[in-house]
Amino acid sequence: MGDVRCPNATCKGALRYFRDLREDEAAATRGVVSGYPGERDEKFRPSAYHRCTTPGCRRVQRKDNWQVGGNLPEGF
Ligand SMILES: [Zn+2]
Repeated sequence: MGDVRCPNATCKGALRYFRDLREDEAAATRGVVSGYPGERDEKFRPSAYHRCTTPGCRRVQRKDNWQVGGNLPEGF
């Protein structure tokens, strides 16, 4: 998905390469963003999200709004 801003401390807000979610990541992302009213239940679309590829970073966020997102649980 190209280089976009990652707000995590490990990435220091620099532009990072993001890729589409795998199936297991998509399921976990649903839980990560359930606190956003516009992302709950049937409104959630995994294809709207991507993941930071920087080693050690678990950031997932909307492709069209980097401020909507969070971190996948440890192990991802
Ligand atoms: Zn990152």
